[in-house]
Amino acid sequence: MREFDVIAIGGGSGGSGFVNRAAMHGAKVAVVEGGQVGGTCVNLGCVPKKIMWYGAQVAETLHTYASEYGFSTENIQFDFGKLRQNREGYVSRSRNGYANNWARNGVEHISGYAHFIDPHTIEVNGEKLTAKHIVIATGARPSIPDIPGKELGIVSDNVFAWEELPQSVAVVGAGYIAVEMAGVLHHLGVKTDLFVRKDRPLRNFDAYIIDALVDEMDKTGLQLHTHKTPSKIEKLENGQLALHFEDGTHHIADQVLWAIGRRPNVENLNLEAAGVTLTERGYIAVDSYQNTVTPGIYALGDVTGEKELTPIAIKAGRILAERLFNGQETAKMDYETVPTVVFSHPAIGTVGLSEEEAKNTYGSEAVTCYTSNFTSMYTAMDEHRQVTRLKLVTVGPEEKVVGLHGIGYGVDEMIQGFAVAIKMGATKADFDATVAIHPTGSEEFVTMR
Ligand code: FAD
Ligand code: NDP
Repeated sequence: MREFDVIAIGGGSGGSGFVNRAAMHGAKVAVVEGGQVGGTCVNLGCVPKKIMWYGAQVAETLHTYASEYGFSTENIQFDFGKLRQNREGYVSRSRNGYANNWARNGVEHISGYAHFIDPHTIEVNGEKLTAKHIVIATGARPSIPDIPGKELGIVSDNVFAWEELPQSVAVVGAGYIAVEMAGVLHHLGVKTDLFVRKDRPLRNFDAYIIDALVDEMDKTGLQLHTHKTPSKIEKLENGQLALHFEDGTHHIADQVLWAIGRRPNVENLNLEAAGVTLTERGYIAVDSYQNTVTPGIYALGDVTGEKELTPIAIKAGRILAERLFNGQETAKMDYETVPTVVFSHPAIGTVGLSEEEAKNTYGSEAVTCYTSNFTSMYTAMDEHRQVTRLKLVTVGPEEKVVGLHGIGYGVDEMIQGFAVAIKMGATKADFDATVAIHPTGSEEFVTMR
């Protein structure tokens, strides 16, 4: 039986982050990947999504702003096949990059699906492999609601397989994927309707920001429908789909896209043989060091139900490798104050607490907020004006910044640096003491009154 110091099950963001770092510290490492090297982010997530988002940005510039800068925009042609081909080329290069890194670091890549035989043994393609440590990083997959006709709908994975764009799509869901996909499809010319079951999308984001997103959707013609809970899908004779709702209404579109959250990949692992337990919500139960209840077995990334973000999975993997193979016995992932961007139109960036969360945590009297609301200069030439809204949430007399939020042109690239300041404990006075960069949108963060 082949024997390793450690085996990672899953070669996505988390598994890969782990194995590379473990191998750099001299461990004998294998990674077992059943699907495509690089996992969700590279193949069916962040990377192809971001390229589609850039494509949508180009479309918005051409159709909305180019003429305001004096460019002629007659006869604009869009070849989705070209975008798809170039996107897949980029994805394939990224995938190769992952595989090359493993090879360079001496990580053994085993292609196939793994399941446990006992706490130190797994089986892949009929071969048994053993290791002192096993890391579960099997990720998650899209959820589908349990309603009649659910199988007629598609999920985000399928969008990346499209060879041509459909004429119309009904997007169901209220999180990152629903908002991002709806925005991209709408700006690429697909008639897009977004259906949320409550009063707005992204309900756990700061309301000041989401109000602006909803206004922008309205202004640009992306139809948002609130209080719509799907009850069934029917296929019509012309091949279109009728999406029915609990309130008795229905909507007809070429495709229905489920974007209602993701479920952990745990079913095929035979976790019972390893004694590994799940949380009530079905994720692998881990402590703050990524330990499962079985000594020597760890889990990280989406399969643990922590914030489902690539940098979280990568960082958790690297930190675990530092703990297991570089003597950093107390090293553990800090899941607080995580910056994140929703690639909506315009983009949303956020780090820390929303105003509502801060008030619930510290009490209303302790919280002071500062806001700025303006038209981004890029969009201020003529009639097509796009809002930018920025907000700082501070607490206490020293006005420590506990939340920073924005929506608008360029916000996706604004947040990372501010996240460092907030992680270091910056106050409003620290922000004010920083010289602005002019003319930019981000300067508003250091000049708010
Ligand atoms: P994954 O990357 O999913 O990797 C798990 C791997 O395990 C898979 O490759 C799978 O094939 C393999 N596997 C499963 N079971 C087995 C088994 N039994 N044996 C062997 N292999 C197995 N995050 C961001 O930070 N920014 C974004 O912009 C962003 N955009 C996204 C857009 C979309 C449409 C989606 C779906 C996700 C997006 N995410 C984004 C989330 C991000 O992709 C995930 O958080 C990240 O990929 C999680 O990494 P992971 O290692 O936990 O899981
Ligand atoms: P999310 O968990 O972000 O959002 C799903 C939302 O859909 C829920 O919050 C809920 O909102 C709504 N919903 C749940 N069940 C139903 C239902 N049966 N019918 C209708 N609506 C329902 O999931 P996503 O799939 O959007 O994304 C998964 C994760 O992937 C994200 O949380 C994020 O961590 C990651 N991701 C990150 C991206 C980025 O960094 N830019 C991009 C894409 C994904 P409500 O309760 O309001 O109805």
